Amino acid sequence: MLQQTPAARVVGPWRAFLDLYPTPEALAAAPLSAVLTAWRGLGYHRRARDLQRAAAVIVEGHGGRVPEAVEALRALPGVGEYTARAVAAFAFGARVAVVDTNVARVLARAVAGRPLAPREAREEAAALLGRRDPRRFNQAMIDLGARHCAARPRCGGCPLERVCAWRAAGGDDPAPASAHVTRPQAPFTGSDRQWRGRALERLRGGPATVREMHRHLTGLEPARRRRVLEGLVGDGLVTRTREGFALGRP
Ligand code: SF4
Repeated sequence: MLQQTPAARVVGPWRAFLDLYPTPEALAAAPLSAVLTAWRGLGYHRRARDLQRAAAVIVEGHGGRVPEAVEALRALPGVGEYTARAVAAFAFGARVAVVDTNVARVLARAVAGRPLAPREAREEAAALLGRRDPRRFNQAMIDLGARHCAARPRCGGCPLERVCAWRAAGGDDPAPASAHVTRPQAPFTGSDRQWRGRALERLRGGPATVREMHRHLTGLEPARRRRVLEGLVGDGLVTRTREGFALGRP
């Protein structure tokens, strides 16, 4: 939820979502249309779909309890390496290093002083973790990357300033070419993401005919309008009905 949205904006909708779906059973049993409606304000809608699919696997395959092992978490729909490790480390205290874009910048700049391949980044993080408290270590690394070693580093006051490999060596910033460092996203305004959100917002109010949907997406050229709607259908977020479109699955 926090990838494209400030945390302060997500807290309220996330708590409301948890009130509605406090357990994997509750989420798995809900209609997708209701889940997508409750997801309002929580970012990428595919994640709501994936979270519900993961909840179904947790109910059917894990007795309703979120699995603790990274491999089992990794096997859940929509869960990648980062999320699996973050859940294992933060929720269960597992001794695993978490490498997100913040941590990856710190590793490339402060530790290696050069761009790192995916495996190298994970190995560097694991070596640093050692016997430290995994929750505190991972949180500290993420905070360091977010507060100091940001895309534009703020080295003044950084606790690693005196030992940072890149500060000592100089040269090109190694972070942008390093694994797990995400590139800046295209602006949201005018993007397909914005139009997808707009289409879903209309369908939260009930099914719509093709004409109504096209009218709702006025301003979007016809080929792009079709692409946005077909993309939502292809992602399983919207169903094509005889008259037009409806939220969720039939
Ligand atoms: S000194 Fe600068 S480049 Fe090095 S870790 Fe700190 S913020 Fe990043």
